[in-house]
Amino acid sequence: MSMSVQSNPYGPNPSDFLSNVNKFELIESTLREGEQFSNAHFDTETKIKIAKALDDFGVDYIELTSPVASEQSRKDCEAICKLGLKAKILTHIRCHMDDARVAVETGVDGVDVVIGTSKFLREHSHGKDMNYIAQSAIEVIEFVKSKGIEIRFSSEDSFRSDIVDLLNIYRTVDKIGVNRVGIADTVGCANPRQVYELVKTLKSVVSCDIECHFHNDTGCAIANAYTALEAGAKLIDVSVLGIGERNGITPLGGLMARMIAADRDYVLSKYKVHKLRDLENLVANAVQVNIPFNNPITGFCAFTHKAGIHAKAILANPSTYEILNPEDFGISRYIHFANRLTGWNAIKSRVDQLNLHLTDDQCKEVTAKVKQMGDIRQLSIDDVDSIIRDFHAEQQTPSLRPAPTTEDDIEPVAKKQKTE
Ligand SMILES: [Zn+2]
Repeated sequence: MSMSVQSNPYGPNPSDFLSNVNKFELIESTLREGEQFSNAHFDTETKIKIAKALDDFGVDYIELTSPVASEQSRKDCEAICKLGLKAKILTHIRCHMDDARVAVETGVDGVDVVIGTSKFLREHSHGKDMNYIAQSAIEVIEFVKSKGIEIRFSSEDSFRSDIVDLLNIYRTVDKIGVNRVGIADTVGCANPRQVYELVKTLKSVVSCDIECHFHNDTGCAIANAYTALEAGAKLIDVSVLGIGERNGITPLGGLMARMIAADRDYVLSKYKVHKLRDLENLVANAVQVNIPFNNPITGFCAFTHKAGIHAKAILANPSTYEILNPEDFGISRYIHFANRLTGWNAIKSRVDQLNLHLTDDQCKEVTAKVKQMGDIRQLSIDDVDSIIRDFHAEQQTPSLRPAPTTEDDIEPVAKKQKTE
């Protein structure tokens, strides 16, 4: 059932005229930011596979490592541009003419320019003042535009930059016609409230689109991305599994979870979210990591319900304890019934799955047996199935029913496990 914006309490507030929650775009940076992940080393074939999978998923932009980073990086950039993907291809360069001249020859649709504007970076990294930054920005932007290519100008470490300096330079580059300006929380220090304030302020100063880039050092990357959209940003940088420098940036999957809760129709109309799991597996294999157990959507227990009270309600109506519908992602929900927190509704559902027939009272009785054994040790599904089957058999032939002792409860399970 689709929910209208007005009836969905998790969606954009209709009175919030700044919000782009229901019209956001994705700049997918697995092949740029993701290359900065400690385990990442993508060969050409892998980059092409990932680019095609991202394109198939439906991301709006694919951002690639700077062509001046290395000779192979430049060749790979050219190769991906030649694939003829639907997604626009971007490359990410320093705000410098040497880089810009190489970038515009690769065949990219757009160039993302970045320069450090914080006091820390100006003093300890490139050593340039704001006038110099503005002058080189203007030169690079006008050059890239003259080639008919999209251009984004972003500050680096925006949240630790002087707000007056920041707004001045954004106003300048907006006037000369950049397609987007970018805010980057390069060190992952920003919180959602600061993000809202900065994006909203910037929105009042520029007429172009606003892109945001959030690192996840303090765990706010998804929340900051959502808040940025609420405040009027249009584009969010993501990577598959959030891989990137240090512990990475806003993850594509996690942001999809957040956005689908806000506007399911929009997300499903643009992105093939049922391909998320394959996409994450592709990248996880390429960088040799596992999908985290608590990953939104694809973590192994993301749709597993355990407590008896939860299981009962989920069986009656999944919306009771699920804000996301696992079917949207081609994933099955799982009722974890093999434990001492289980309830008789979950056990009854397992009885039905086993195609056995027990009354509600009998299900309650066998549930008590499951809980009894669950207090002794961790249970497997086989354990519970054996308890159910033995109980069921006893009900059919009551004369064979053994005396109810704890040992008798355990023994049949052990026997059953050997035969299965
Ligand atoms: Zn970054």
